[in-house]
Amino acid sequence: MKRNVLIIGAGGVSRVVAHKCAQNNALLGNIHIASRTLAKCHAIIESIHDKGSMQRNGQLQAHMLDAMDVEATKFLIRATGSQIVINVGSPFLNMSVLQACIDTGAAYLDTAIHEDPAKVCESPPWYANYEWKRRQACKNARVTAVLGVGFDPGVVNAYARYAMDTYFDSIESIDIIDINAGSHGRYFATNFDPEINFREFTSTVWSWENSAWKANAIFERSKEWDMPIIGKSTTYLTGHDELHSMSQNLDVPNIRFWMGFSEHYINVFTVLKTLGLLSEQPVLTARGVEVVPLEVVKAVLPDPASLAPDYTGKTYIGDLIKGDRDGQTQEILIYNICDHQTCFEEVGSQAISYTAGVPVVAAAMLIANGIWDVGEMVNVEELDPQPFIALMNRMGLVTRIRDSQGDRVVDPEQEMVGKPLTSKLVKYG
Ligand code: NDP
Repeated sequence: MKRNVLIIGAGGVSRVVAHKCAQNNALLGNIHIASRTLAKCHAIIESIHDKGSMQRNGQLQAHMLDAMDVEATKFLIRATGSQIVINVGSPFLNMSVLQACIDTGAAYLDTAIHEDPAKVCESPPWYANYEWKRRQACKNARVTAVLGVGFDPGVVNAYARYAMDTYFDSIESIDIIDINAGSHGRYFATNFDPEINFREFTSTVWSWENSAWKANAIFERSKEWDMPIIGKSTTYLTGHDELHSMSQNLDVPNIRFWMGFSEHYINVFTVLKTLGLLSEQPVLTARGVEVVPLEVVKAVLPDPASLAPDYTGKTYIGDLIKGDRDGQTQEILIYNICDHQTCFEEVGSQAISYTAGVPVVAAAMLIANGIWDVGEMVNVEELDPQPFIALMNRMGLVTRIRDSQGDRVVDPEQEMVGKPLTSKLVKYG
């Protein structure tokens, strides 16, 4: 049983994580929020008190931390007695925070793959460039590290595993589809850190097709879908973290990621990119100041957390899965719909942050009660998805399925009664 959580970062996702930890502090214990800007940690704590989110009285404290500093992070983990670290700071921090967890024995969770600020879109599979190099170190230290446990990556990996265990004998294709059908009312803004958001789209789009990596350019391939509640939307093939573990862990020949973009987003993105304003490489201004164009664009765009009060509409994220069962071809859609305003009322964040923050807290709870405390590094599809999906159903993210029998809520606890878990994982070497 692990107790006491250290949350790293104080942005939009951290706000959700902190509220959800507070709502479950009887299990999780003390809560500490540590980030670069102390005032942002205090603002989250104030919001938790305003909303009466604490399940019961307990410690809730703010700390200033540069999480690139491994020794300072280790000191804070030990000083706060934290046995679970939820890293929802920038993806540049992953390897430092992970090392601090390996050295202190704390469990590690994050919601995005590690990135080197000076590089964009490295060779696939991305996890092999950084995180998986510490796999043995985690095993030696018996440290549980759950990588990429937001919604995508995260829940969509669990959906794939759940479908594989429950509905299929073999799977031919998984199309992960992410559509934000909401509106923030600003001329242009990104829904999470602009620097990270743009870095996803400025280089090669990798997808997994016919059991091999295929390269495309962004906005080169599009597809229209008709999804429950949100209706018809155009999406574009996009590179994304989860393909880089699912392709290696699941025996599925085709795994693609599709993201919805408005024409307006594409226009603004194209202008910025064409002008060189999305470059991660430094340039020298006439005054002799070295600046990174992407960092400048981030500085002038709205803070994603500030979009929440005015956000309306819904998000859709799910997996469209095709395969065989008992010799018959079948197709299922397993998905979640989340409403921006409902999220704001509950925790003060929009749905993109909410859908990323709730799963990582559900995962922390499964580590706290021992179910997911596996003592090694894993991606989400390597873990039993049933308790995860069932827990999120009770925490505000309800999973639905659409198949030949109609559209309904997925209740893994019911569907799997009496059935053994038939793991079809392909474990890497
Ligand atoms: P934000 O940019 O809003 O927040 C990041 C936070 O990290 C900020 O508070 C920032 O501090 C802090 N931070 C940055 N560098 C350091 C440092 N060196 N030391 C300590 N703190 C630091 O991002 P989001 O909350 O929107 O996203 C958080 C994470 O979640 C990202 O990795 C993002 O990619 C991921 N994500 C995952 C999703 C999923 O479904 N899997 C969906 C959405 C996001 P400061 O305030 O001072 O800048």
